[in-house]
Amino acid sequence: MTTGAQITLFNSLGRALQPFTPIEPGHARVYSCGPTVYHYAHLGNLRAYVFTDTLRRVLDWKGYRVTHVINITDVGHLTSDADAGEDKMEKAAAGTGKDIWEVAAFYTDAFKTDLRQLNILDPSRWSIATDHIDDMLDFAKAIEANGAAYPLDTGLYFDVTKVPDYGALAGAPPQDDGGVARIAEVEGKRHPADFALWRNSPLGETRQMEWDSPWGRGAPGWHLECSVMSIKYLGAQFDIHTGGIDHREIHHPNEIAQNQAFTCTSATGANYWLHNNFLVDRGGKMSKSKGDISTLQSLIDRGVHPLAYRLLCLSAHYRSELEFSAEAVSGALTRLRRLAIAVQALVDRHGETHFPLDRERLEGDLPKAATDLLTQFDAAVSADLMTPQALPLLDQAIASKALSLEEKLRVIASMDRVLGLGILDLRRADLRVRPVDALITEAEIDARLAERKEARAAKDFARSDAIRDELAAQGVEVMDGDPLGWDWRVTL
Ligand code: AMP
Ligand code: ZN
Repeated sequence: MTTGAQITLFNSLGRALQPFTPIEPGHARVYSCGPTVYHYAHLGNLRAYVFTDTLRRVLDWKGYRVTHVINITDVGHLTSDADAGEDKMEKAAAGTGKDIWEVAAFYTDAFKTDLRQLNILDPSRWSIATDHIDDMLDFAKAIEANGAAYPLDTGLYFDVTKVPDYGALAGAPPQDDGGVARIAEVEGKRHPADFALWRNSPLGETRQMEWDSPWGRGAPGWHLECSVMSIKYLGAQFDIHTGGIDHREIHHPNEIAQNQAFTCTSATGANYWLHNNFLVDRGGKMSKSKGDISTLQSLIDRGVHPLAYRLLCLSAHYRSELEFSAEAVSGALTRLRRLAIAVQALVDRHGETHFPLDRERLEGDLPKAATDLLTQFDAAVSADLMTPQALPLLDQAIASKALSLEEKLRVIASMDRVLGLGILDLRRADLRVRPVDALITEAEIDARLAERKEARAAKDFARSDAIRDELAAQGVEVMDGDPLGWDWRVTL
């Protein structure tokens, strides 16, 4: 049984907010484009997965059964999303002298570790591109048999004129889309937007990842894998497809075109195409290829709890650009600390952090003051995942004077199923982290602060200031009079 407000989602296909109605009542089938595992995920990539996790948690909280597939791209993604450049995986492996399969396994593990640290739930299925080479060959052969692909010396190419409305998702005619660079890349392409379904290895070159095919020995194009795996695990038409907004321009229009050519219909594969906006820094969109690798681990190393990054993502709507800066992260960390301290105080008084998983039991018999808050929360998250409006309701639940301790904790537990902050289990001590490169230990910081306290009591302000400056030089900011009682924090 699904409950509460009607979910609306912003569908990039048509650029409109639409009520969400799954194909099969009560069951949401979701496919999310996964990472290309040639490097650590950067914080921008991780924003994409906090978004899909929020979507999945909202659907789940509202009573849908969710089948969620995320793929792992370990082959085929070129340094340009179109048909230009080198294979990202081959290039990365060549750079390190490592075996490409090892590179893929290493960064896949690192990615999953990041997700765990962000409380991102495992999908129903991880689907690895290189496990599906035969499926991809069959799919490409079917497209060719349906007359929508043509072979060249360099591989098998998709003919975009063979499907209705190619590029409708991008919202721009394909020839306006970087066409010149793309024509120049491959000789014999019939149309600038045509793209490779299969790419043959360059003559005389042996690649680490290559397979035989009717068109030559080589590797599948990147777009093919997502069509193949989404249809294989979710059906020819499923509910929701997600990805970053960059995928709206090339990757997803190409997936749609492949799906249409494969099924010989105008069906697009997914009914709702959802795209998260970018995490940007002052230099623009964060990207791995720019060598701009702000990773989750780099934040942790600077003393930031990973869930502060989750909270930062939730504090912006997924369709808005989010600017990443030390101040923004620091603000999120303070907000997380404030929440954790307040909730921990409630938990300590109550002595219980485990509440029923079943929402009916969790929220059963709650008074109106509680159900009002939950109704507002439901309205916020059901309205295209408006997490920035949902977060203050968590603050209101914590501060409410109308609710008993038990009632408050049940409301908080319910909201946290969606927010995924694990707030009932976050301890103050978990959030008191010093940067790994700090030479000073926590015990030393405490000792210096005790000395400073003595100096201040003796009105020796010069000494007190000197200690503060000395700590500041080691990346520790002394916090006098902090309302939450923190005596220091790391400077980012
Ligand atoms: P990739 O590993 O490059 O295939 O990207 C994984 C996911 O991250 C895709 O859904 C991208 O669209 C998304 N993505 C890439 N850069 C950013 C960014 N700066 N902000 C948000 N999402 C991004
Ligand atoms: Zn994809």
